Formats: sequence, C-alpha cells, structure tokens
Amino acid sequence: MSFTTLGLSAELLRAVAEQGYHEPTPIQRQAIPVILAGKDIMAGAQTGTGKTAGFALPLLQRLSERASAKGTRRIRALILTPTRELAAQVEESVTAYGKHLPVTSTVIFGGVKIQPQIKRLRAGVDILVATPGRLLDHVQQGTLDLSTVETLVMDEADRMLDMGFIRDIRKILALLPQQRQNLLFFATLSDDVKTLAESLLKSPALIEVARRNMAKESVEQVIHPVDRKRKRELLSFLIGSQNWKQVLVFTRTKHGANKLSEQLAQDGIRAAAIHGNKSQGARTKALSDFKRGDVRVLVATDIAARGLDIEQLPHVVNFELPNVSEDYIHRIGRTGRAGSEGKAVSLVCVDEQHLLKDIERLLKSPIPKQLIAGYEPDASIPAEPIDMGRRGQNRGLQSKGPARGGSFAPRAMGRTQRLVSRKNVRKSA
Ligand code: AMP
Repeated sequence: MSFTTLGLSAELLRAVAEQGYHEPTPIQRQAIPVILAGKDIMAGAQTGTGKTAGFALPLLQRLSERASAKGTRRIRALILTPTRELAAQVEESVTAYGKHLPVTSTVIFGGVKIQPQIKRLRAGVDILVATPGRLLDHVQQGTLDLSTVETLVMDEADRMLDMGFIRDIRKILALLPQQRQNLLFFATLSDDVKTLAESLLKSPALIEVARRNMAKESVEQVIHPVDRKRKRELLSFLIGSQNWKQVLVFTRTKHGANKLSEQLAQDGIRAAAIHGNKSQGARTKALSDFKRGDVRVLVATDIAARGLDIEQLPHVVNFELPNVSEDYIHRIGRTGRAGSEGKAVSLVCVDEQHLLKDIERLLKSPIPKQLIAGYEPDASIPAEPIDMGRRGQNRGLQSKGPARGGSFAPRAMGRTQRLVSRKNVRKSA
C-alpha cells in the first residue's frame, strides 16, 4: 500500500518521499483517513510505530486546507507531550512534514529561557508543541491564547498521567474551545487513560497497533541474578568482556542514574546519564554523544528515555527492574528492531523477585536466567524493600517488601539455564 491512497496532498506526499518513507506504517494507514475526516481518535501506539507522522500529516493537511490569513496566525493545533525531548522531536517532525506547506509551528518546554519562546509565539504559529508545565507558565504570563485551538493531540497520554500531569491537563482543557478534534495516543491503556478518554473524546475511533516486542523473537532476553551490591561490577564486566559498544542502561531513579554513570566512568567506561533533572543542553549533548559513539553507555530513567529517538540498539540493560511491568516492554523495545538482533539483559537482585514475577506474568512466559560465574548471588543476603522513587508513589505503588522466600533460593534459580564462566563469556564476545 502506498501513501498516495490515503488522501494526502501533493505537498505532503513530497515531504514524505523526501523523508525516504515508501509505505505507511499500520498506525498511519489506520489513523490518517480517520483524522482527515475530522473524527476523534484514541490510538494505542508506542514510539517507533510512526505515530508522529500518523497524526502530523493529516493535521497539517487539515490546517493547510483552511490556511490562516497572513498576519492573523493563531494557534490552531496544540500537541501536548510528557517530555521535553519528545516535544522537540515531534516539532522537528512537524517541520519536516510541513516544509512545503504555509503552516508554521513552534515548540515550548521548560528548562530553557522563556523569552525566545514568547517572541516566537508573538510572531504567530499554527501548531504549538508543548509540555504541560511550561505551557501553563505562558498562560499565566498572558503570552499564550488557546481559545482558537481546533485540534488537540495528546501524545503519550499514559505517560503524562504517570508523571502526575493530570491537574495541569485539566487546567489546559478548560482553556480550549469546546468544539474541537481530539487525538489521544497512549502506549498502555491504563484505567487513568480510559477515564481521561471518556471525559475528552466524542465517539472516537479506537486504533490499536500490535504492541511491539510482545512476541518479538529478535530480542533475546536474559536475567542475570546477582547481589544488589555487585550489580555495577557485573555490568562493567559484561560491557568489557563482551565488548558492548552502545548500551542503554535503565535505572529506577535519577539519583541512581547519576551514581551509576559516575561509577562506570571510574571503571574507564564512557557513560552519561539522562533524566529529568538534567538541563536541556546536557540531555541533548548526552544523546548526541551516545548516538555518535563518543559515549558508550547511556544511563536513563524510564521517563527520560521515553520519546528518545534511539532505536535498534544492540544492548539494553535493566540495571534495576522497573516498578511498572509495562515499562519492561517499553525498555526492551529499544533493541532488536526491524529484523536486527538485540539483547535485553536484566540484572536482578533478591529484592526484585516480586517485580520479576509481575513482568513474567505480563509477558506470559518466564525469562531465562543465567548465572555469571563469580557473580552468583549469596543466598544468605535477605531481601530489602525497594525505593520506588517518586513515580511509584504517584501511582500509589508501595514496595511489597522483601520477596517471599527472602533470597534467590534454589527454587527461584530452578530456571537457570547454564552457568557461564568468565572464560566462556570472553570467548563468545
Ligand atoms: P515515531 O513512532 O513517530 O517516533 O516514528 C519512529 C521513526 O519511524 C521515526 O524515525 C520516523 O522518521 C520513522 N517513520 C515514520 N513513518 C515512517 C514510514 N512510513 N516509513 C519509514 N519510516 C517511518
């Protein structure tokens, strides 16, 4: 199927061809005609599915069909995203797809100066991409008028809710005209998303794209059981002995990400951390250094990693298992895309047994366990409660405390596939 059958204008087809896209992705095939028809949609699609073009192309088309008169540009489309990185990437895509149309866009997010944003808003834009917090800052300063918005896009709505943006979202919704088109995108259809959708959408078309990696065989998953205190040592050993060149490592907390990247640097492994407390400049630099190969390990929290345009990584490491099982799927989805092989490695200590059980329940299959010789867990170490961080508290999650059994008892290790010696690891590197 080609893009030409979707009802897009010649200018958009040209931009799509210039991007090198040959055919629409499933989400694009399903969403574009419905959005062009002016309907609300509720779409389950993650980063990597082509969802951005899925909403940006029809949005640009609808706006260009009834272009603003010169000098009277008003915000006609608002795209809300949870993170700064995603906002920047979405706006970049909007600019690329709209390059042959007389439609303008800009992006506003926190962590950077507000004045240049005010200047761009004053000049007038058709499409505004924004994170909720900075958007409300502008509203408060009177530098932004949302009363002319015709289309609202909520990208990664589940993530925005997870991040505690619901109050900001409600405030923003109250500033929009009642009559408008709403496009809601989410990765996981949580109860919170359902509630939001019910209050927001008018007879929406429900679009669900198969969840990546749920059954993808190109991602090899493995658990290395290890003691809590020896995870960093094991990670350095794996990176060094197996000669991993580009590794995305997930931690649960911002503090954990910082600490780990510093420790890896001490081990002589070039690493950078990326999370919400880093300045925008620092985040952008870390990402570009990683993409270029100047930084070998990027340590990220789940939230910071969302929307990052890095794909097909050979290795993803869960230094700590996520509190929310679905995040495990998002994390390992960073590897082994589009037919290339990928490996998702999880370093799991005795404290995380209940998280592992939840993940395996979600995957509907156990993940193979593999002991690394020299790093076998000490069965006498008892489980400790896990620091769930701010996100866990937001979601009302509590640590379930020490795992039953209290250790990596022989039963828990029953699935251990084989014991690899350091020598074997080196050989297979
Ligand atoms: P997204 O899910 O919107 O973050 O898009 C993921 C990646 O897919 C981006 O790098 C896009 O440039 C790319 N992409 C989007 N649509 C297509 C398409 N139809 N064909 C090939 N690549 C695409």
